[in-house]
Amino acid sequence: MKKYLILSLVLLSVLNSCNSTSDKENNAFEQYKNSFIDSLWKLYPDWATSVGYHNYDSLMYIPSTSQREKEKIFFNKQLNQLQQFDYSKLSETNKIDYKIVENFFQYSIWQIEQYKSWEWNPADYNVGSTFYYILSENYATLRDRIQNFYKRLKDVPTYYEAAKQNIKNPSDVHLKLAISQNEGTLSIFETSLKDSLNTLTLNDSMKNDFLKRNEDAINAIKSYIRFLQNFKNEHPRSFRLGATLYEDKFKYEIQSAYTADEIYQAALNRKKYLHEEMGKLARQLWKKYFHDAQMPNDTLLLIRKVIDTISVQHVKPEDFKSEIERQLPLQADFVRKKNLLYMDPNKPLKVRNEPGFMAGVAGASMSSPGPYEKNGTSYYNVGTLDGWSAEKAESYLREYNKYVLQILNIHEAIPGHYVQLMFSNQSPSIIKSILGNGAMIEGWAVYAEYMMMENGYGNGADSAEFWLMYYKWNLRTVCNAILDIGVHTKNMSEAEALDLLTRQAFQQQAEAEGKWNRVQVTNVQLTSYFTGFYEILQLREAYQKEKKEKYSLKEFNETFLSFGSAPIKYIREMMLGKD
Ligand code: ZN
Ligand code: ZN
Repeated sequence: MKKYLILSLVLLSVLNSCNSTSDKENNAFEQYKNSFIDSLWKLYPDWATSVGYHNYDSLMYIPSTSQREKEKIFFNKQLNQLQQFDYSKLSETNKIDYKIVENFFQYSIWQIEQYKSWEWNPADYNVGSTFYYILSENYATLRDRIQNFYKRLKDVPTYYEAAKQNIKNPSDVHLKLAISQNEGTLSIFETSLKDSLNTLTLNDSMKNDFLKRNEDAINAIKSYIRFLQNFKNEHPRSFRLGATLYEDKFKYEIQSAYTADEIYQAALNRKKYLHEEMGKLARQLWKKYFHDAQMPNDTLLLIRKVIDTISVQHVKPEDFKSEIERQLPLQADFVRKKNLLYMDPNKPLKVRNEPGFMAGVAGASMSSPGPYEKNGTSYYNVGTLDGWSAEKAESYLREYNKYVLQILNIHEAIPGHYVQLMFSNQSPSIIKSILGNGAMIEGWAVYAEYMMMENGYGNGADSAEFWLMYYKWNLRTVCNAILDIGVHTKNMSEAEALDLLTRQAFQQQAEAEGKWNRVQVTNVQLTSYFTGFYEILQLREAYQKEKKEKYSLKEFNETFLSFGSAPIKYIREMMLGKD
């Protein structure tokens, strides 16, 4: 008996040492992450600048063949170094960081070797954003920032010469996009920079050197535009990615447990479900709004009529911002009252007027502090409709009507993006802030909308209207996924795409045409919202099954969010099979 006990103790300790994390391994891994990130910033100084890391502001990335060779060597070496770690000894956070970093290395190599947008997407080449950032962000004095601007200017001609060497077989839409975006970039050098220089006192020779370099940069951009305008391309590449590249990119970027085809099928099923539910609600609401008028036989037409009628209930243009501000505390109260998750009452959300450079882009959006601004504030930016034509404002306000405006607030703020960010800031991981998973972040916000609705948000006298408008909003997310996968892997035509968005998803023509433009020049990103939403619901169902009577929604939400902006499939691994 005693012998058996000793044996089992030994066995237990052996098991323990296999399963438990090791401080030594985790400390080494922390060091590894830090050194990897510093070398990443050296390799991609523009990226570093954009996340608020300013040690390499004077350097510029040159997209040359030798640079790509250097990158491949770097990523293979990093991959090798990473694999020296004993994964089983890492903490949960580090295990997820390990997977994220590993995926990033493989994705980066794949982009250079397989995706190759460096040879078919001329819009990859544009020096505008970093120069604009240095000029307009007040992270240092203008005098200091402009020094780095000057140093980088020297390399603009080399940059565009390398770009010209790379372009082989661009698609027509990417060619057009590159021309118009680089034309837009010219104003930074022709206007903004000159305005900034005039506010500084520089000696004449310094100022002349500056203007000379600036002139060379302007000429380099113009020369690239001409190169693109005159590009001879008998058989241009299609803007469609094709199924093989798409599946790979989806795997690396979304990091879903599902394939793109499985998500496509799930989205079609969801669309069918939403149409059925919306049909029921529209039939139910018909009498209230149309009295004895004849109900259309076509369900989609019926839904459209009811939606168009309900959409006229909206705030006045001048009340747009105050209405958002009025709603936020009510939504926070609802979250507390229903016990959906913990909200720190000491961290109220800061609502501000949309900064000038965002004007007119979105009615509302979240600005979160970058990874190097740990104590920075997150802001909820709300635009005014001042200066909009009455017609444009009316169309916008019908889209963001009484109901949709509340859903937008849920998505952006409470308990959507803002709350997710609050949780992820509690377990800071530089890896997750830099390489955070878009499908998790957007999926959470879309899930938050649904969770509020299923817990009775909007359960008033007009709850049928509320649900109908919620479903319309959700349908947009679902159709984004169908559209993206359909266009890039299934040859969906423009006519089919516009029919999907207008007749089947009840969007306005202008909105649908804008989406058609977007789906041609981007790929995969439009699936992130639905894929994340779908995976969170799947995970919640599995979690509830496993926890049985111990399950609570609050505990699920908080545990889920505690892992930070990580791919849902890894959060799933951490959450399931623990008991
Ligand atoms: Zn109106
Ligand atoms: Zn979002």
